[in-house]
Amino acid sequence: TCIWLLVLDSGCKSWCELQEARLRLPILAEEQVIMEAVRENECVVLCGETGSGKTTQVPQFLYEAGYASSGGIIGVTEPRRVAAISMSHRVATEMNLPSGVVSYQIRYEGNVTENTKIKFMTDGVLLKEIQKDFLLQKYRVVIIDEAHERSVYTDILIGLLSRIVPLRNKKGLPMKLIIMSATLRVEDFTENKRLFRTPPPVIKVEARQFAVTVHFNKRTPVDNYTGEAFRKICKIHRMLPPGGILVFLTGQAEVHSVCRRLRKAFPYRPHREHTEDLKKAKRAKKKKNMSLPRINLDSYSALPADEGDEDRQAGIDDDYNEGSDLELELGDHPDKEKADPSIPLYVLPLYSLLAPELQAKVFHPPPAGARLCVIATNVAETSLTIPGVKYVVDCGRVKKRFYDRVTGVSSFKVTWISQASANQRAGRAGRTEPGHCYRLYSSAVFGDFSLFSEAEITRRPVDDLVLQMKDLNIEKVVNFPFPTPPSSEALISAEQLLISLGALEEPPRHGRLTCLARLSCPITPLGRAMAAFPVAPRYAKMLALGRQQGCMPYIITIVAAMTVREIFEDYDRPAGSEEENTKMAGKKARSVQMRRLWAGQGQSVQLGDLMVLLGAVGACEFAGCTHQFCEENGLRYKAMLEIRRLRGQLTNAVNAVCSDAGVYVDNQMAPPTESQVLCLRQIVLAGLGDHIARRVQAEELLDPKWRNGYKTPLLDDPVFIHPSSALHKTLPEFVVYQEIMETTKMYMRGVCAVQAEWIPKLLPQYCHFSAPEESPAPWFCPLSGRVKCHQQSTFYRVSWKLPAIEM
Ligand code: ADP
Ligand code: MG
Repeated sequence: TCIWLLVLDSGCKSWCELQEARLRLPILAEEQVIMEAVRENECVVLCGETGSGKTTQVPQFLYEAGYASSGGIIGVTEPRRVAAISMSHRVATEMNLPSGVVSYQIRYEGNVTENTKIKFMTDGVLLKEIQKDFLLQKYRVVIIDEAHERSVYTDILIGLLSRIVPLRNKKGLPMKLIIMSATLRVEDFTENKRLFRTPPPVIKVEARQFAVTVHFNKRTPVDNYTGEAFRKICKIHRMLPPGGILVFLTGQAEVHSVCRRLRKAFPYRPHREHTEDLKKAKRAKKKKNMSLPRINLDSYSALPADEGDEDRQAGIDDDYNEGSDLELELGDHPDKEKADPSIPLYVLPLYSLLAPELQAKVFHPPPAGARLCVIATNVAETSLTIPGVKYVVDCGRVKKRFYDRVTGVSSFKVTWISQASANQRAGRAGRTEPGHCYRLYSSAVFGDFSLFSEAEITRRPVDDLVLQMKDLNIEKVVNFPFPTPPSSEALISAEQLLISLGALEEPPRHGRLTCLARLSCPITPLGRAMAAFPVAPRYAKMLALGRQQGCMPYIITIVAAMTVREIFEDYDRPAGSEEENTKMAGKKARSVQMRRLWAGQGQSVQLGDLMVLLGAVGACEFAGCTHQFCEENGLRYKAMLEIRRLRGQLTNAVNAVCSDAGVYVDNQMAPPTESQVLCLRQIVLAGLGDHIARRVQAEELLDPKWRNGYKTPLLDDPVFIHPSSALHKTLPEFVVYQEIMETTKMYMRGVCAVQAEWIPKLLPQYCHFSAPEESPAPWFCPLSGRVKCHQQSTFYRVSWKLPAIEM
């Protein structure tokens, strides 16, 4: 009994403390106002400083007011996976309810049950649910959280819900929409007449915010901001009174490198526990990943890439960009800090792909006497509130995805944040007492920041969104009530691409999803099939064509590998010591040798870099996908695990769309046969048809800059096959490429050779055909029952002459 009482007592004590903390949240004073507004309006906008209690409290208010009692669910969308998971745990704890009642769902996982009453999810998950049930009948209330981030899916959801909610109410199935924002800039939602005819009421939650003193750097901003951040943290820690430190950096690699340096400078025993935890988590994860997910039709749901963490396509995570800045990793820093090791510093990393149990550590108080120091990406800007932060160190940058308007090529770049973001970051320091924010840039630079971050939808191509919207039977995307519409050029080029891929009808049925079954499968029409695949439309087309000659497992693997960024280690980064350089050179040589091996022989060489991807995945799986194999052969272990997960997911999607496909992924595929390679190259051409390039002909070689160059339909300048490509020496006449990266030259990546005579057959939409040839004379083909002839063609704009083919 004694022990029981003790347990009960301590459990109760922490729960009581929790409730007390809850009562202190500023939003509690507004409960009545909020609930009244919700009762009287279909849609309500709620603004409140980060940490005021929006995410954790509003679902509870609704629950207590009975909004989940008659079978309906309260749904909350988050742009980030981290927030969906941690907020569901937090609310479950506060309400003392099991995770089967307060649950979460993200792209790959979730704990939703029949009893779920409050469901946290990423915005992409809810968008996919709308595709299955437009009226969202399961939900009684939908809360769109973090709307100020203006993530693409959040924007689309608000547009859709502005129609769904009135429709539901008209049908006598009442539904409420709550839009929550951490900034007061909500005019895009409220003043937008196309969105809401009567502007929804805006409720402001006044948060107690203590003064935050902002300190700018005097010097012009340094490139090495991680080093600068490290020095600043050391200074704060040695010279300033107690209080937690929160540091904003841009990516996972930077976070880890600064964590490592700090732990070296301020060794502290609990870190060993932490690393032990990390190791344990790694081991557990490895175990979990050892076998491919079982493919189960019932559990299938094709979700779009769902993260605001820039993980919009699987495996791509803005916040999770390793590799690019590894050179900042240390041990060899010029000005090693002489820190006083007697002061304990409790250093924790925080980024979206960190295991949830490790993320949760930032919410617990640090060990007695130690100072908490959280090194975070911009997840800590608004989604999560870390208790006890008094000092903020802000590098002023964020990692964002950029797209070239001409080529559509995307890249991750580190750029300056907006003034609004900088102020949000500074605000993290004043939650519990007056604080300080150290900006690693000068006030002049701050003055040049844009006032607000742009809505993501205006910065990227929208072909995937247009396809998803067509799948929702939205025929005129131009008329969709976007909070901020994408440019009309972006919409037009998206439609053009989708028409040429065969996903949308050409005029006069212009703009609808295609209904013809075409090559895809007998049941699902091509456009619908493509919309069901959680990858970009070009890749979706490849999947839709993949059923021929047993190519599907290979196409799935190629698409998965192309979707996951950078599967090879980068050995070109500067190392440091002589010894390290030699080691790196050795690894590089080995990696080059392996790539040559994976490129295969004979026919398979023509599949080029895609064959290398296929070979690498195949070899890695054959070796059991171990960390060691990746390490020894120049592959990124994390990328290989991601590919494995994605292969499972894509296989499910293919089986769900083509119920007779019966595809299963064999971890250890045999290499494709010669005829399969031919087939794969044609499928790739059909998907990447607008990414075609032709080697410059001898007679055109007047200008030396075109030596070994390729011409593309859209660019004036030559593009080249990268020296690391499998086709660098071969220089085939026609190639298709995955993307163009501009470094010293414009280089094509992911190159595959195609044959000229395939182009008029597979890409007739891009060709102008001549009149039938006289010789050979047209003939009757008994097989097809049609008269056939030879026809010549030219490839559109560029007028490339293509060989005569039988039509
Ligand atoms: P908002 O959504 O307005 O930014 P939240 O509802 O997320 O605010 O957070 C309210 C308060 O709850 C914060 O001050 C934060 O410190 C606390 N909190 C939230 N999640 C956790 C957690 N997992 N552990 C401890 N405290 C938490
Ligand atoms: Mg919140």
